[in-house]
Amino acid sequence: MAQNLPSGAGPVAQVTGWVRVVLDVPLPGPFDYRCDEFVTPGMRVIVPFGRRKMIGMVIDLPETPAYDPVLIKNVEVVLTDVDPMPAHWLRFARFAADYYQRPLGEVILPALPMALRSVAAYQGKRSGGGPVARLDQRSPPVVAAVQASEPPALNEAQQLAVDAMTGATGFQAFLLHGVTGSGKTEVYLHAAAHTLARGRRVLMLVPEINLTPQFEQALRARLEPVAGQGGVAVLHSALSDGERLRAWLRVQRGQARVVLGTRLAIFAPISDLGLLVVDEEHDPSYKQQDGLRYSARDLAVWRAHDLNIPVVLGSATPSLESWVHAERGTYRRLPLPARARDVTLPTVRLVDTRRLSMEHGMSPYLLDAMHKRLANGEQVLVFLNRRGYAPALHCASCGWVSQCPRCTTFTVLHRMTGGRHQLHCHHCGYQQRVPSACPDCGDQDLRPMGRGTQRIEEHLAELFPQARVARIDADSTRKKGSAQALFASVHAGEVDILVGTQMVAKGHDFANLGLVGVLNADAMLFSQDFRAPERLFAQLMQVAGRAGRHAGHGEVIVQTGYPEQPVYQALLRHDYAGFARHSMQERESATLPPYSHQALLTAEARELNVALGFLQSARDAALALLVRDRTEELITLYDPVPLRIVRVDNMCRAQLLLEATHRPALQSLLRQWLAAMHDNPDVRRVRWQLEVDPLEI
Ligand SMILES: [Zn+2]
Ligand SMILES: [Zn+2]
Repeated sequence: MAQNLPSGAGPVAQVTGWVRVVLDVPLPGPFDYRCDEFVTPGMRVIVPFGRRKMIGMVIDLPETPAYDPVLIKNVEVVLTDVDPMPAHWLRFARFAADYYQRPLGEVILPALPMALRSVAAYQGKRSGGGPVARLDQRSPPVVAAVQASEPPALNEAQQLAVDAMTGATGFQAFLLHGVTGSGKTEVYLHAAAHTLARGRRVLMLVPEINLTPQFEQALRARLEPVAGQGGVAVLHSALSDGERLRAWLRVQRGQARVVLGTRLAIFAPISDLGLLVVDEEHDPSYKQQDGLRYSARDLAVWRAHDLNIPVVLGSATPSLESWVHAERGTYRRLPLPARARDVTLPTVRLVDTRRLSMEHGMSPYLLDAMHKRLANGEQVLVFLNRRGYAPALHCASCGWVSQCPRCTTFTVLHRMTGGRHQLHCHHCGYQQRVPSACPDCGDQDLRPMGRGTQRIEEHLAELFPQARVARIDADSTRKKGSAQALFASVHAGEVDILVGTQMVAKGHDFANLGLVGVLNADAMLFSQDFRAPERLFAQLMQVAGRAGRHAGHGEVIVQTGYPEQPVYQALLRHDYAGFARHSMQERESATLPPYSHQALLTAEARELNVALGFLQSARDAALALLVRDRTEELITLYDPVPLRIVRVDNMCRAQLLLEATHRPALQSLLRQWLAAMHDNPDVRRVRWQLEVDPLEI
């Protein structure tokens, strides 16, 4: 019989029998194998699958296999270099798979570091005991000790928030609502230190780590004295495979007591968790946009509930979903009203661009304010969420506009190093040289249409010849480390005017920044997505929060052609609650989330009518299920429609939206519907995917 059973390793362990295994394959699974070695759920195995060998994870030890034993193959290797994944982690993965309607293998295996799910890492010349043994033989990289820092005193609101969190005896979701600069981070750090002192562990999610290494430094400085040297592990997608494996193993082996990470860290196999924190909980980057389309924020709430521990969602502009929970009392709201450093909020001014003559897209009002701030030795940020030189190139004589041959979009004009220009498609990556003459009429007078960050940077250099102008966007920060270098030069006062996209809005604390100018915010306002105003408000509040964080008397100038819009009026007053109230009324009257639940089926095909045909058949099948179950009242099926940008990379895209007032009814429909999807006559002619709680529609 089984020997050396690890205690608490799983429900059953066995020496010979059947094992149920999940694999990262786009088939429902799981798959049964025969195994004559000691094995428990949560262990990895190498198994034959078709003509391949794959690494899978054992999830169950069934008494009888699900199909004819004659067809069942043997497990080839039981991998023991990593302890079995804990039961709470398997439970969590199972929930994510059920909720997002994906095969369990597509949740479990991608959550492991690459080397632990790659057969190649265990075979051939490179073997030598596998990737874990190889890593353990190497000496770990020297982590510079961080200077411990003393916690500052908390203000009253911060203290109340910390007390509420540390006083929670089981599951409780807290919504920590505080404007930029109100000291949310201090609250997290105090609550985390308290959790560590009680012998429990902490998982903290942030939207972005690369851009804010100072946050990681602050966290380590404060928590390593409690968690121990090296007790903080960082997990994010920009780590190399080796770095990720090393950090992940420290978590899995219990050496790390604090995990700081981006959305993928929600799958960290951390045990004895005592506190979960989701900073900037409204941030769209918590939603994974391919594969398992999960929301790390929503999963964090479930995980906290499952483990019966508190979870803290923090934001200056909470998602309406979380705000409604707080209004209903299911989440407890903890307000941080004042800025911690006793600095007043920046003054917001709206400049109505309809009545002004603009200079390069900037109003005289903004330019004047810039002159004053620069003369005063302060820094200025010009925010424009559009990278490149100009959104398109056009011909003045015939009206030709540069378009991507593979997509139904314009190609964006980019200025390359050396001053050359190229046309780039931001959707498929297509690139071409700028034509010397109009392809339609031959005229050589081709002009940039509109403005991107590069063009604004160029104009500002002309308008302010004495100022040092820098640009931070995805183009200027492509090289590893270049973003940190650019931010460092801004912090060091080597930049007077900073031009940037949303990259500059996240987390950076610019001490000497007195003025923020926002260009072309309206572009976001009139997107078809019902969440566009919410996103715009969050982004403007965030970028506004960059101004005057230390110096005081900060100013934000928003140029708009629609100053009367509620989103701008609320921004004027820094009135999130008012904006939320207005948005909630709109959503409730239109039965939009969070007053309903959505799922989105998307299909892509070479021809649009194939994609639409697939969706129409899928709609018919869903309707038949609704009629059979008499749930037509609970679920609305919309008509299939093409996406706004219909063709991307020569694939035509369409979508079918489902909306339900009753979540269990929707989940039940989706399960049956997916199971029947292979009966769709067009299923082999399209690429399709289902998204639960889509963020963009
Ligand atoms: Zn032309
Ligand atoms: Zn394209």
